[in-house]
Amino acid sequence: MRQVLLVTGGVVLAVSLIVGFSALNQANQEQLELTSRLQSRSQVLADSLAESIEPSYNTRATSTLQRVIDRFVSSERLAGLGVFDSSGNTVAASEDLPLPEERNFIANVMDSDELRGSFVPRGEVTYYVVALPLHEDERVVGALTVAQNATYIDESIRSIWWNSLVRLFSQILLFAAAIFILVRWVFYRSVSKLVQSLQAIRKGDTPADTLEGDGFLRPLAGEISKVTSSLRQARTAASEEARMRLEKLDSPWTADRLREFIKAQLKNRPIFVLSNAEPYVHTKVKNTVEWTVPAGGVVTAIEPVMEACGGTWIAHGSGDADKKTADAEGKLKVPPEEPKYTLKRIWLTPKEVAGYYNGFSNEALWPLCHMAHVRPQFRKEDWHEYKKVNGLFAKTLLQEVRHLERPIVLVQDYHLALVPALIKKSRPDAQVAIFWHIPWPSAAQFNICPSRKEILEGMLGADLIGFHTQQYCNNFIDTVGNEVESRIDLEHFSVFREDHRTFVKPFPASIAFPGIAEMHRKPDRSMLESLGIQSKHLVLGVDRMDYIKGILERFKGFEFLLDAHPEYRGTVTLLQIGSPTRESVEKYREYAAQVSAEAERINGKFGTRDWKPIVFEHRSYPHTTLRELYRLADACLVTSLHDGMNLVAKEYAAARGDEAGVLILSQFAGASRDLRGALIINPYSAEETSAALRAALTMSKTEQHRRMKVMRASVSDYNIYRWSAELIKALLRLE
Ligand code: UDP
Repeated sequence: MRQVLLVTGGVVLAVSLIVGFSALNQANQEQLELTSRLQSRSQVLADSLAESIEPSYNTRATSTLQRVIDRFVSSERLAGLGVFDSSGNTVAASEDLPLPEERNFIANVMDSDELRGSFVPRGEVTYYVVALPLHEDERVVGALTVAQNATYIDESIRSIWWNSLVRLFSQILLFAAAIFILVRWVFYRSVSKLVQSLQAIRKGDTPADTLEGDGFLRPLAGEISKVTSSLRQARTAASEEARMRLEKLDSPWTADRLREFIKAQLKNRPIFVLSNAEPYVHTKVKNTVEWTVPAGGVVTAIEPVMEACGGTWIAHGSGDADKKTADAEGKLKVPPEEPKYTLKRIWLTPKEVAGYYNGFSNEALWPLCHMAHVRPQFRKEDWHEYKKVNGLFAKTLLQEVRHLERPIVLVQDYHLALVPALIKKSRPDAQVAIFWHIPWPSAAQFNICPSRKEILEGMLGADLIGFHTQQYCNNFIDTVGNEVESRIDLEHFSVFREDHRTFVKPFPASIAFPGIAEMHRKPDRSMLESLGIQSKHLVLGVDRMDYIKGILERFKGFEFLLDAHPEYRGTVTLLQIGSPTRESVEKYREYAAQVSAEAERINGKFGTRDWKPIVFEHRSYPHTTLRELYRLADACLVTSLHDGMNLVAKEYAAARGDEAGVLILSQFAGASRDLRGALIINPYSAEETSAALRAALTMSKTEQHRRMKVMRASVSDYNIYRWSAELIKALLRLE
C-alpha cells in the first residue's frame, strides 16, 4: 500500500508541476496581451481627448473644460479625466480621479513631453492611468490624464488560474484512480502470484522449475528459477562435503550434522514419531485461528530433531481448530512458518481422552512412576480406553508405513506403552524404539499396578527402550525380572523373550543449544517491567503446574529465607511461571489453587506497597520469552520432587551465554546427574532450599562462571541432536 501511495504521489506531483507551469505561462501571455491592448486604447483615447480639450484649455474656459470632461467621462465610460496646468495644479477633473502614487508623475510627463501610463490599485479595483502633455504653440502648457478601469485584466488572470486548478484536480483524480487500479490489479496480483509460487518452492511443495510469473514478471521468474536451482545444487554439494567432513571430525552435534548423519545412516528410510502431545496446537481465537507450542519436555526435545530430519509425527489433535487446519487425513506441514516435516493428527472422542489420557495416563501411570506421594487411581474403564487408543495409534502408524520397508519408529512416553508390541506384531521388519520420558519406579512400587504385565509386554515389543538415567534402566530390568517370563542379559542390558531381544539403555534427553548470535544478545528487561518487578535480585521458577514440580516446597524454602534473613525482604522477587496443565484432572486443579493461595499467603506476610515477594504467573510463556527471563534471573529454582529429566534446568544453563547466574536443582531431577555445576538440594527441606538461595545470591561472579561453564559444556556437548543420534545409532546397531 505504501508503494502504491508513493507512485501515486509522484505522478500527482509531476502532473501538478506541468499544469502549474502551463497555467503560469498562459496567465503571463494573457496579461501581456490585455495590458498592451489597454495601453494602445488609452493612448488613442488620450490623443483624441487632447485634441478636443486643447482649444478650451487655451482660452482658459475652466467651466467649458469641466463640462467637456464630464461629457467624456460619461460617454466613453471612463473612470476619470483630469487637466493640469504647467505647475501640476488641477484645472478641471472628474470626481475621484485616480492618480499614481509616484511623486511628480504629472510634472515628469510635462518635462519629458511624452505620454506615460501606470496601473493604480485602489481597494478591489485597478485603474490604468495615462498622462500626456498639452501644448500651446508647441509649448507644453499642461497635462491631461485619462483613467480606465483595468480590473478585468486581474479577473481574467484569476479565471485562468481557477480553470487550471479545476483541470489539475480532475487530472489528479483520474491519474490516481488509474494508477491505483493498475498497481492493485495488475502489478500487485502478478507479484503476489510470484511470491506464492516462490513460497511453494521454498517449502518443497513444487520443484524450482515450476516458478510462475505473469506477463512482465515472466523474465524475472525465469531468472529466479535458475538461481533457485543452482542454490539447490550448491546446497546438495555443500551438504555432501559437510557429511564427509563430519564423518572424520568429532565436531559438536548440530541440526545440520544430525541431518547429514540421518541421511548417511538411514539412506531414504523415513522416521516416524508417535506421541500423545502434538508440537503445534491450533485454536480458535475470535474469528481467527492461532497456533501455539504446548509446554512440556517431550515437545521441547523432539521438535528440533524432527525439524532437522523431516519425517512424520503422529499425535493427538487436541486443539479446537486442529481439524480445520489439517487435510482430510489429519495431515499438515509444520512448523507453520517454515514447514519441514508432516504432522498427522489422530482424533479422539471425549470419552477416549477422559479414559486414556486423564485417567490411565495421568491418574494411574504418572503418579505410579513419580514418587510424589499421590495415590495412583487404577480404573478398569480407563485401562480399557488406554488399550483402545494405543491400538488406534498403532493402526494409524501401520497404515502410514504400509508401502515402506523397514521404517524407523520412535514411540514417545508413557501414554503409548502398548504401541511397540502392536506394531511389531504386524510389521516385524520395523525398527521400533520407545523412550520413557518420566522416571521408572522400583520394582516393588510398580508391582501395585494391576495392568503391569501388559504394560511391560507392550514395551518389550520394542527393539530398544530408552530412559533418562541408568537408575531407571536398572529399575526397569528389575521390574521385568519380577513380572515377565524372560531371560535377562545383564552384561548387555537386554531382555530376551521368545526369539525377540530388547535393549534397555540410558539416553539423557536434552535441548537444542542456542547459537552464538543468541548468546551475545543483551536480555530484554521489558517483561520484568510489565510484571512490576523492580527488585535487585530475581529468582525464577518455570514449570507446568504439576505436583511433582515441588512448587509449594519451593515457596516454603523462599519463605524460610525471608524469615531467617530479613535483609532480603524488598530486594528479592521469586517469579514463578506456572503453565496450566491437565486441568480436567481434579488433582491438578487442586494443586493450582493451592499454589495460588500459598503465593498470596506469603505475599500477605511479607509484601509491602512497593514489593511483592512472589509474582505468580499462572499461564504459559513461549520459549522466546522464557529465554529472556532465564538471562535476567540471578538464580533458577528447579525443585522437582521426582522428575525424568527437567529440561528447564538445561534451558537455564544454555541461555546463560554470559556464564552468570546460579542453578538450584533438586537431587530428584534427572538433570542433577548431568549438571554438575548446580547447587543440589533436597526440595523437601525448606532450610536447604533457603541456604542454597542465600549461597546463590551471595556467590562471587568467579564462582558463578566456574559452575556455569561446567553446566554449559555438558548441555552443549550432549544436546538433543546428539541424544537423537545416539538413539538412532543404538537402534541401527541392532540390525
Ligand atoms: N515451558 C514452556 N512454557 C511455559 C512453561 C514451560 O514452554 O510456560 C517448557 C519449558 O521451557 C520446557 C518444558 O516446557 O522446555 C518443560 O520441560 P521439563 O522437562 O522441565 O518438564 P515437563 O513439563 O516435561 O515435565
